[in-house]
Amino acid sequence: MVNCIFCKIIAKELPAKVIAENDTTIVIQDIAPKTPIHYLIIPKKHVADITQLQTEDKNIAADLLFMAKQLSEQNPEARDFRLIANNGSGAGQVVFHLHFHFCAGKTLSF
Ligand code: AMP
Ligand code: ZN
Repeated sequence: MVNCIFCKIIAKELPAKVIAENDTTIVIQDIAPKTPIHYLIIPKKHVADITQLQTEDKNIAADLLFMAKQLSEQNPEARDFRLIANNGSGAGQVVFHLHFHFCAGKTLSF
């Protein structure tokens, strides 16, 4: 997708600290972390937000959750974690390529 910052990171046209990667998913360090561990779990396919997921994206969507499980399992400090998807500008989304914030490393409370 032209001018999508996450598509450019996926295409390695922009730098990012890559935490994990597989066929469908990339995980990068958030550039402005809000918690001690703050990753972004991003599908490699450009999907603007959850409402834009298609039925054929079911496996891609599931892979995001299994990546969260993997990230948690490989780091004791991330055993407890929070997943956040800001969906739409009214909910605070600023990058319109679907992503989950994976947040861990301190007590999280609303
Ligand atoms: P959201 O408000 O849910 O759209 O969150 C977008 C997130 O992307 C924010 O937490 C930003 O800090 C993060 N972000 C923006 N640009 C970059 C980048 N180039 N590399 C890593 N994270 C980024
Ligand atoms: Zn994109």
